[in-house]
Amino acid sequence: MCIRTAEVDEQADTAIWDPDGVTITVLRGTHPHSLIREVAALLQDLGAPSPSPGAGLICHCGEPVRLPGEEPAAADATTL
Ligand SMILES: [Zn+2]
Repeated sequence: MCIRTAEVDEQADTAIWDPDGVTITVLRGTHPHSLIREVAALLQDLGAPSPSPGAGLICHCGEPVRLPGEEPAAADATTL
């Protein structure tokens, strides 16, 4: 099951792993750069491969992980 992300209004940390929901919850309003750093660290704790610089976040199965509200990749946009 792929790791998802979800936005919450209040929690103790910027990004928290929720094993029950297979979800990383992130704090709404966090700067995207901090968010990516925190989520990337969590993903690596969970056994995901290290992403190459600029490649974005990667699930332990190799699929991309999108942050809440993140724009789809440019390749997807052409299908609209
Ligand atoms: Zn996956």
